[in-house]
This record gives sequence, structure tokens and C-alpha cells, in this order.
Amino acid sequence: MRPRAYYDRKIEVLTHYGNGKCACIKCGFWDARALSIDHINGGGSKHIKSLGKPFYDWLVENNYPDGYQTLCMNCQWIKKAESSKQQDIRQGYPLTLEDIKDIYNKCFPRA
Ligand SMILES: [Zn+2]
Repeated sequence: MRPRAYYDRKIEVLTHYGNGKCACIKCGFWDARALSIDHINGGGSKHIKSLGKPFYDWLVENNYPDGYQTLCMNCQWIKKAESSKQQDIRQGYPLTLEDIKDIYNKCFPRA
């Protein structure tokens, strides 16, 4: 598929799962190059590998099933960090937003 055709399809799908906007449903970021479809309940990479066809085509051919949402890559990573928080804490990685603010305040103390 040519890149342009790929993006035509991708933007159509992102707009559907972005509730009518081609943008992240959490933060509003809109550059489609860094937007993707999130599997709300996880299991995305396994599912995508099992399809045998491009994910965006599969979503359209299946009449936009429930269980997906448009997220930007930042929000994808944050979702991942929050859902693996317990495991990360055991491994000593402080990944809550409060922890990040804490570290930030230590690195850049207010005058
Ligand atoms: Zn976002």
C-alpha cells in the first residue's frame, strides 16, 4: 500500500475511535504520525499479529468493533506505565506522576 493510501485509511480509523476527531482522546494531540489505536483492555500486539492483515483494514472490515480508542504515543506510554505500576515499583522504578514531579523538583529546585 502506498504511504498516502495507508494514511487515508489510518486517519479514517483514528477519527472513528477519536469520537469524530483525528486526535488523542486523552490530550487532544492530533498529528496522525504519532497517533495509534489502543486496545482498551490490552493484548494489542498479540491480537495484531494474529490478524494476517493490516490492523486498520481489519477494524474497517469488522465495522469498527468496540474496545478500541485513539491515543497518542505519549498517552500510550503513560497508560503502559500506570498499568504496570505495581511491577515497576517492585523493580524500583518510580513511575507515578507524583514520583516524576518529586524527581523533577529535586533536579530543578525552586529558588
Ligand atoms: Zn495523548
